[in-house]
Amino acid sequence: MLKLSYPDYVALRAHGEETYPHECCGVLLGKSEPDGNHVREIVRAGNTRTDSAHNRYNIAPEELIKTQRQARKLGLDIVGFYHSHPDHPAQWSQTDFAEAHWIGCSYVITAIAQGKATITNSFLLTGTNEEDKKFLDEPVEIAMNEAEIVQERGRS
Ligand SMILES: [Zn+2]
Repeated sequence: MLKLSYPDYVALRAHGEETYPHECCGVLLGKSEPDGNHVREIVRAGNTRTDSAHNRYNIAPEELIKTQRQARKLGLDIVGFYHSHPDHPAQWSQTDFAEAHWIGCSYVITAIAQGKATITNSFLLTGTNEEDKKFLDEPVEIAMNEAEIVQERGRS
């Protein structure tokens, strides 16, 4: 299961609307717990693919290293990635699968239809290596708790 706060959920969906008709992408920082990945912070990333930004996404390696450092400073880990599918369903593509290398991470995809965010799905990358890795559908739990929302707002 992927657990995320309501503000983070709204923010990652809004990111996809902002970059429409291009894909957005970003990193999910948090903690991997026995019941799933808990997101504490989302980090926007620049989409470095210029050849076909509407159906490809990529996070530059140096940007990822920076994000990893940022996570460590906060006492968090990278627990997932997100991107958008402009005018395509919120399902992973063969390219998404080929480019997913972080076993145990959640890969979140938001479908953006005509500039509006519709469905957001998460897929957990399981397995032990590149040969036996696979994506599993993963439920997304959104914390709607008022106290948590206020706390989140107070931080940003
Ligand atoms: Zn994709």
